[in-house]
Amino acid sequence: MRLSDKTAVITGAARGIGLAIARHFRDEGCNVILTDIDAENGQREAEALSCRFLSLDVRSEKDWEALASFCPSPDIVVNNAGITGFENGVVAHDPEHATLTDWHAVHRTNLDGTFLGCRYALRGMGRRGTGSIINISSRSGLVGIPGAAAYASSKAAIRNHTKSVALYAAQKGWAIRCNSIHPAAILTPMWEAMLGDGPDREARMKALVADTPLKRFGTVDEVAAICVMLASDEVTYITGSEFSIDGGLLAGSAAVPG
Ligand code: NDP
Repeated sequence: MRLSDKTAVITGAARGIGLAIARHFRDEGCNVILTDIDAENGQREAEALSCRFLSLDVRSEKDWEALASFCPSPDIVVNNAGITGFENGVVAHDPEHATLTDWHAVHRTNLDGTFLGCRYALRGMGRRGTGSIINISSRSGLVGIPGAAAYASSKAAIRNHTKSVALYAAQKGWAIRCNSIHPAAILTPMWEAMLGDGPDREARMKALVADTPLKRFGTVDEVAAICVMLASDEVTYITGSEFSIDGGLLAGSAAVPG
């Protein structure tokens, strides 16, 4: 019960990493509000966890205002919702051919969404002066990715904004911490279109993690575990920090993305 008496808001929680964070937080005694743009799955998963759900598109200021009325002063906010830009098929995302529209679309969800989430968190937590904000960036926020430039840029900006938020809160004299998490390949529904379910699935999975020292995908539970730690009152001296969850990928020369 490391999070008892706390209320957490998690974005993009209808599936994948966000849903796992919701489950772990619930198991630690936290009062969790799942939010997502996908209201159908979000509602169903929230009911299964005996938690509340609110439909929230992280790009929408109106949705954040509605959340602020519903939950004015959360203890924990996890800005998890994110897109790669490949959701509707493979389009050019390299620095030479990407369209401005596609570039903006990725930044609107990943970066604008995180900015609005941090702003909501600071305004709500500032009344009390305590809280924990966790921003889900990516290993792609730490290295360049030629074929997914907008994704990499947006995730790098999340890393930097995390530090601005952490310093701002500290300047105000608040015990509000803000940290970023940088997962590499974590097996979630996001990967399904790329992996497929045919006989080549296993080979594709192996190829995707061939440069990862631990030679496997990470799990959503491994990401959720560090979120529990950062959300808890056990690590109150950690703010403005970044945490890689990458099977050792960035520890050495394998840092060069394939
Ligand atoms: P998933 O695609 O499995 O889940 C993301 C969820 O966010 C979906 O339910 C999606 O809804 C929702 N979502 C998308 N756009 C919005 C929006 N505008 N507002 C609110 N919700 C939205 O992703 P993962 O669980 O894999 O990833 C979660 C986070 O972790 C993302 O930020 C991702 O970039 C990051 N990450 C993931 C890695 C991985 O390997 N899985 C590696 C590094 C970072 P819908 O399905 O309807 O679009």
